[in-house]
Amino acid sequence: VHKRRNVREHLPEAVRPRIARALHQAYNAPTAADAQRQLERLATTDALTDIENRRGWQSTIDEEAERSDRNGADLCLALLDLDHFKKYNDQNGHLAGDDLLRDTTRSWKAQLRSGDHIARYGGEEFVVSLADTSLDEAVAIIDRLRKSTPDSITCSAGVAQRQPGESVEALTERADAALYRAKSDGRNRTRTSPEPVPGTP
Ligand code: GH3
Ligand code: MG
Ligand code: MG
Repeated sequence: VHKRRNVREHLPEAVRPRIARALHQAYNAPTAADAQRQLERLATTDALTDIENRRGWQSTIDEEAERSDRNGADLCLALLDLDHFKKYNDQNGHLAGDDLLRDTTRSWKAQLRSGDHIARYGGEEFVVSLADTSLDEAVAIIDRLRKSTPDSITCSAGVAQRQPGESVEALTERADAALYRAKSDGRNRTRTSPEPVPGTP
């Protein structure tokens, strides 16, 4: 979305066995359909944290948006970005940074309800969808997640509530703008997106 900074791509040692195992299973799958499923899961899962990656997220959030159009229920989207994570890596090492990403994911995932979804959106940025949730409730949930980030790392968040018929792209952009405000207002906080002015795209 907004000025996504270049994140150094790396394949942590810890994820190699997982990828090897998944490829082995796909190779030895009893049927082509099973192999297809294995590969699909590999392609849509983040190898470090074992939650959905951005590609997997794309279809999940499309389905969530369709569902909220169908049943008219609230849907909120939040972007969360760890604060000063570069410094954390510099001070503790990249492996400790990897561990923190894994611990954070585990903690957040455990607190979400079954209809909610979480994905790794970029390096140290996560996206969460909250079904049947008002904007106020969403902020309360996201603040709870933020406060449970391990090892006294803080995190900033932007939350937006989907308007009827709003595209996933527009919704994500609004959450991203709110996240940007949370960062520029001093980090370690949540900001919400105002609804778009009626009549504007
Ligand atoms: P800000 O509060 O503005 O978000 O600052 P920041 O340091 O968190 O943001 P910046 O975009 O400058 O740096 C992101 C850091 O996240 C740098 C990058 O090395 C680290 N990072 C991204 N992905 C991974 C990963 O998979 N493992 C580890 N250990 N670090 C990662
Ligand atoms: Mg960050
Ligand atoms: Mg970031």
